[in-house]
Amino acid sequence: MSRLVIQNGTVLTMDDTRNVYFGGHVVLDGDRIAAAGPGAYAGPVQAGDEVIDAAGMVVLPGLIDLHFHTAVGKGYCDHLPLWESLEQFWYPSIRALDAETAYWAAAASYLESIKCGVTTVNDMYRRVPDLGRAASDIGIRAVLSNDVALDEHNLDTLQDNKDAYDTVHGSGEGRIEVRVGIEWLPLASPGLLRDARALADDLGTGIHVHLNESLTEVENSKERFGQRPTEVAYDAGLLGPDCVAAHCVWLSDTEIALMRETGTQISHNPSSNAKLGNGIARVPEMLAAGLNVGLGHDAAECNNSLDMFEVMKFASLIHRAARVDASLFQAPDVLAMATRNGAAALGHDTGQLSVGRKADVILVDTRNVMFTPLADGNADQLHSHLVFAANGSAVDTTIVDGRVLMRGRELLTMNEPEILRQANAGLSRVLSRIGA
Ligand SMILES: [Zn+2]
Repeated sequence: MSRLVIQNGTVLTMDDTRNVYFGGHVVLDGDRIAAAGPGAYAGPVQAGDEVIDAAGMVVLPGLIDLHFHTAVGKGYCDHLPLWESLEQFWYPSIRALDAETAYWAAAASYLESIKCGVTTVNDMYRRVPDLGRAASDIGIRAVLSNDVALDEHNLDTLQDNKDAYDTVHGSGEGRIEVRVGIEWLPLASPGLLRDARALADDLGTGIHVHLNESLTEVENSKERFGQRPTEVAYDAGLLGPDCVAAHCVWLSDTEIALMRETGTQISHNPSSNAKLGNGIARVPEMLAAGLNVGLGHDAAECNNSLDMFEVMKFASLIHRAARVDASLFQAPDVLAMATRNGAAALGHDTGQLSVGRKADVILVDTRNVMFTPLADGNADQLHSHLVFAANGSAVDTTIVDGRVLMRGRELLTMNEPEILRQANAGLSRVLSRIGA
């Protein structure tokens, strides 16, 4: 595989010392980063190397969307709280999926992510082998899990999840992983959680679960199990460093301590939590307790955008507003949540531009009004613009495993108009099936 030599860019490494190189270079050799540093690349440019001129661009690690669902529709039930929106649209729609609809819904969802600079999605949905084909075709890095619930809810079973693992785990040159997914506690039991952990351990894979998302979930858990959601998950052995717990809005001090004890990874999804009226997670307390917190958009049904730049800004603003404290969630830390922390949560070699890491890189164009005015050589201002001023439309180039998926905002791996057409057709099929 030939190399990509990215020159003349402002390189935001997000590495351990947070080096920023103005007029710097990044060299991608196959699926790994071979060099990153200040000034022009001094090594030999070899025959077959492709040189990307990143003048006017910020070069940074691809964003990690740590809690993601492929979406077949959006703009329905926008006024409903979580449980009602699940019952009225989400569950009926995901029970009505066929293979083709799932494939194109995933392709459209991954397309929006790629266009907004996301290189990894942690996607819990159904028909995982079809999602895997879409991820493989479009080129994004995808951690996939099923929507597993108790049988009476007519969603996925642990056997479905095992079959998905056997079918697509490791496909797409290793970019596709399959984990065990648990929908949420109201549709689960302690026994199901124990079996999910056993399956994950048996397969040597991780877990993705919605946990403590709404007050209705907490009340349901206390009524059915006599415990709060995290306590139930802890007792069932579900938690651990290989487990991503999404939302965690209503954690008690005890639950935060259980998360810390088990090293469980947290996906904070502030815009989804706000839109559904679920509340504001106690992230300042989680960070103070030493938890690793990444960011996710959740789903188009409840966001309704997949743009992680929007999620970054919202993550900062909502905590400042709620705590009346402008010092919270400063730009470099928010950017770390969307890159380094998300990568660490998934145990991935991504999320920073340093030698030996995976070649998941994005180029963000600063030659537009979102990044203007911009002083030369001011790293603080650049972080600020990325988090507070920009949106995903500033992303010019998205690279995963050293492969350019989007360049000049043009998708190179699939036919974009075809994806849009097919995703609309898929929605029509689902709507007619569910009688909406
Ligand atoms: Zn979710």
